[in-house]
Amino acid sequence: MKKQQVKDWTCEDSAELYGIRNWGAGYFDLNESGEISVQLEGPNGDSHSVSLMDIARGATERGLGMPLLLRIENLLDAQIARINETFARAIHDCGYGNVFRGVFPIKVNQQCQVIEEIASAGRRFNHGLEAGSKAELIAALSILDNTESLIVCNGYKDEEFINLGLQAQRLGVQVFFVVETPSEVETIIRCAEREQVRPNIGARIKLASKVGGYWNATSGDRSIFGLGSNDLIAMVDQLRSHNMLDCLKLLHYHLGSQVPNIRDIRTGVLEACRYYADLVEEGAPMGYLDLGGGLAVDYDGSKTNYTHSKNYSLDEYCVDVVEAIMGTLDSEGVAHPVIITESGRATVAYSSVLLFDILDTTRFEPVELEHTRISEGDHQMLLNLQDAVGSITPKNLQESYNDALYYRDEVRSLYLHGQVSLRERANAENLFLQGSQEIRKLLDEAEEIPADLQALPEVLSDIYYANMSVFQSVPDIWAIDQVFPLLPVHRLDEAPTRSAIIADITCDCDGKIDRFIGREKEQKTLPLHELKNGEDYILGTFLIGAYQETLGDLHNLFGDTNVVSVRIQEDGSIDFSHEIHGDSISDVLSYVEYQPKALFERFRRLAERAVKQGLITVAQRKQILQTYTASMSGYTYFEK
Ligand SMILES: *Cc1c(COP(=O)(O)O)cnc(C)c1O
Repeated sequence: MKKQQVKDWTCEDSAELYGIRNWGAGYFDLNESGEISVQLEGPNGDSHSVSLMDIARGATERGLGMPLLLRIENLLDAQIARINETFARAIHDCGYGNVFRGVFPIKVNQQCQVIEEIASAGRRFNHGLEAGSKAELIAALSILDNTESLIVCNGYKDEEFINLGLQAQRLGVQVFFVVETPSEVETIIRCAEREQVRPNIGARIKLASKVGGYWNATSGDRSIFGLGSNDLIAMVDQLRSHNMLDCLKLLHYHLGSQVPNIRDIRTGVLEACRYYADLVEEGAPMGYLDLGGGLAVDYDGSKTNYTHSKNYSLDEYCVDVVEAIMGTLDSEGVAHPVIITESGRATVAYSSVLLFDILDTTRFEPVELEHTRISEGDHQMLLNLQDAVGSITPKNLQESYNDALYYRDEVRSLYLHGQVSLRERANAENLFLQGSQEIRKLLDEAEEIPADLQALPEVLSDIYYANMSVFQSVPDIWAIDQVFPLLPVHRLDEAPTRSAIIADITCDCDGKIDRFIGREKEQKTLPLHELKNGEDYILGTFLIGAYQETLGDLHNLFGDTNVVSVRIQEDGSIDFSHEIHGDSISDVLSYVEYQPKALFERFRRLAERAVKQGLITVAQRKQILQTYTASMSGYTYFEK
């Protein structure tokens, strides 16, 4: 970065560099102290904001240190309202003859606090839940507590699953069973006849339309779930023969998650509406069209049909869906159905942020060596290396780099053969790093970067060690190369003068982050600030509310992080509404079947034996056991 820029750096430069306003959806911005803020709108359209650093400080004072998962309840409420209100507006503006009923798929974030918040914020919209397993249905039945909202049951269903849903219907709960495979029809019929309850049946169809994006295997002929047109007709006939065709009320499909292209959304609706109209024609009452999930999140803020983005707004999504349904059904003279969507990702992604501190950094720069200098008597290869580094000019970057690399490798191989000393080798490594850094600086000014040197900035970038586990907190970064917005949450009024990749605290070389959102395209390094002595440096990973929490695992036995849920009041004050202390070491050990008491007992015996052998005193034994016990109940992450 050039000197001038560093001096005149403003918050605006940071906003642009990290694309905050592109991916922040109006929820995240930065304040004049250079800290990331959460922006909220009051009921009268007035806005208020709170700094994430204030929330972090409040949590730390309450004993919830880094890494810390922040759930911002207001953002969850706001997204539920946005989705419902935008559909309501599209329905009104297009003159659509029915309503929207959203359901939240529990699998996207099963945490009790999240589901409770969705049920409570969704109440005024009759927003329901989607359950994909018995466990999720049980949670839904107890938490939802609103018989106007729907509970849609997907997934494989055994008799127990179906019986539970049928019993709940007796209580007035609106349960829908979506038939995913042909064999389920028979089970539903059998259970319903036994229980004497008329079930609400839905059919999940396999659309032929294929979509773009990462999850496109969910659609098409070979998708795991759903009925083909032949299965569907068999189901209609089967229901008719049991006098249950009047129970077939819903058509469901799911294109896959994170559908980046609006064209695919529209194609899906059009195809589904053909099926819908024909089921009506067959004599089923229908009434509900369930479009599944797929509403994408613009993680990189590019507004494109790239995997981690989307080329449509929520307005466009709702209007396109409504228009496509009307376009098909009106011409067939079929009444407009209730529109259901199962948006998970778009509902919860915004509300969670992971905050973590940086523990240390590594730089690829020469190390200060006081007692080691190059002298005339050193090996010729070392002197050649010194010459090559000494003669770098803007005109010979590629050539100088090749020479330096060659001589450094020669010195390395001489070392292997015992022909240079460890000190000489250290000098050679230092010289090479010095030369490479000089070349990298000159590249900033070069008009054209030679092909062989394009990776140099990356190779020389710093490593920032983060107090968190990628596997536990953002597993999709590791599993599917997902990119999330990642940036410092303070010091944004200062120019970031370093460029780095992030390594996590697990000792797995996959525990790293080296793909970041950039101004135009994805970047391999992230601009960061130098650490300041005695001051924490806090980064945040944003938009992680969907799919990350329960998919995370205990790699290296790093457990659940601390969690706080906050609700921001209109006067800008922060309510710490829920706190969950992260797993202790004894918690994670128990998960993998150790028994902390038995472990202590074994360690005690070891200490007792050491006393007997005269290795330690009794007083030392006491202290050692206290240290052991304290660690056992401590946080699994780095504690300061
Ligand atoms: C996973 C899933 C969803 C959620 O999809 P999002 O893209 O997160 O909205 C919805 N419906 C079904 C059937 C699913 O399997």
